[in-house]
Amino acid sequence: MRPVIITANWKMNTTPADAAPLARSIADATAASGVTRVICPPFVTLAAVGEALAGTDVAVGAQNVHAESKGAYTGEVSAAMLSGLVSWSIVGHSERRRDQGETDALIGRKIVRLVEAGIRPLLCVGEQLDEREAGRAVETVQAQLRGALEVVVGEGHLVPADLVIAYEPVWAIGTGRTASGVDAAEMAVAIRTTLAELTDTRQAQATPVLYGGSVTSASIGEFLDEPAIDGALVGGASLKPDEMAGIVARAGITAAARAAAA
Ligand code: PEP
Repeated sequence: MRPVIITANWKMNTTPADAAPLARSIADATAASGVTRVICPPFVTLAAVGEALAGTDVAVGAQNVHAESKGAYTGEVSAAMLSGLVSWSIVGHSERRRDQGETDALIGRKIVRLVEAGIRPLLCVGEQLDEREAGRAVETVQAQLRGALEVVVGEGHLVPADLVIAYEPVWAIGTGRTASGVDAAEMAVAIRTTLAELTDTRQAQATPVLYGGSVTSASIGEFLDEPAIDGALVGGASLKPDEMAGIVARAGITAAARAAAA
């Protein structure tokens, strides 16, 4: 049985002063749900958020990590620095692919650093609108997955057993548009097909695949109605405790149904 996971990506929002009370409000508003909850705030708020969430089962995640383990990389943050502050990290978010020119190979090296530090990687993949319109969405996402994970294997590691994939169509991020639940589920199946080629069917079937892209409390149900989808990576709505309460409450229904069926 795959867990149901709701991850908050706060992006470049909040300060050390306001992140802690926001994290606590979200934890309180989403408690006792049977859902794996993760909050990924900015680096500079990680310590404050970690303290605010002490005693809860809400995990703290980073939004990024550097691909090297240490050295002359001014302003960067390594996996070793994050160790102890976070148990998860997003890698390969489309905003970083767009703004920092991150490639699949670089993202693969970031996953290796996370594996070495014992931090759970949440790998984002997703197609541009023109790629979907040209009928190339599935091949684009499968190529992103292969490009990153072949580097992990090439550096002598197994594809991490605790890897989580977020399918985030780029045209749906922060736009108010979402993919359909059916399209997201089709992509989740394609993602697991590629994962099975890189690992085996058992690991592929055990790997959670989340949907991300303008998820709200009103739209989460369409995705969680699909058995192939295991939760969401939430951006804008994750800064609103009421929205998170609705999203996690809906996720709790799926988590309870899965537990009852197991
Ligand atoms: C994201 O940041 O991963 C995201 C999906 O953002 P939004 O929910 O705002 O589209």
